[in-house]
Amino acid sequence: MLQIENITVYYGNIQAIKGVTLDIQEGEIVTLIGANGAGKSTLLKTISGLLKPKDGQIIYEGKPIGGKAAQAIVKQGISHVPEGRRIFANMTVEENLQLGAYLRRDRAGIKKDMEQVYELFPRLLERVKQQAGTLSGGEQQMLAMGRALMAKPKLLLLDEPSMGLAPLLVKTIFRIIEEIKATGTTILLVEQNAHLALSIADRAYVMETGRIVLSGKANELTESEEVKMAYLGGH
Ligand code: ATP
Repeated sequence: MLQIENITVYYGNIQAIKGVTLDIQEGEIVTLIGANGAGKSTLLKTISGLLKPKDGQIIYEGKPIGGKAAQAIVKQGISHVPEGRRIFANMTVEENLQLGAYLRRDRAGIKKDMEQVYELFPRLLERVKQQAGTLSGGEQQMLAMGRALMAKPKLLLLDEPSMGLAPLLVKTIFRIIEEIKATGTTILLVEQNAHLALSIADRAYVMETGRIVLSGKANELTESEEVKMAYLGGH
């Protein structure tokens, strides 16, 4: 579904991605793990068109998308839930969700997907008219994910969905990520919590300072001594 071939990304003179190659097959959860500053968020932003690669290719459904505008990429079926959520604080829950569908014209489909989002996140349904800025951290994460789903993505990019959430809520969010996968959406998940990410992923890539240093099936990486020592607290 998505092939990234040897891309490099710069912030000015600083090279944040130093030749990354990876692929995502339809229907998978692929997770990207690695320490702070490894380049995980940068890679997601490059896939969704917020940053442009300097070299290399990003091929989505057989077509190059590297360097295309973010809006065009959303239209092709890739939605990004950024780190820190970035919901519209002064708008209601419902308005935030409607904005997620701003490129769509199929009213009936939008209504159906809105119902599906409320089914996935009943907490949002209880708070339809509430200002998004007054939601708890966990509810804001749900809203950010719901808004991304309103674009009807085939590929969902999730950046650190567990950040700042209490353990019970993290569990809820991860259960919902599995439910989203079950509806047929492919997921690329960036996570600091490697344990949890590997527990729901099919495959994983480990990033260090702008490069992929390890990759494989999630259950195999969970057993790898290198991953255990560096990312799973030695367990
Ligand atoms: P974290 O988990 O801390 O978010 P990450 O793996 O997602 O880490 P990135 O945010 O992608 O890492 O950052 C990769 C590198 O690029 C870091 O060295 C970071 O300082 C640098 N970087 C990120 N954003 C910018 C920016 N806007 N300008 C300059 N450098 C940046």
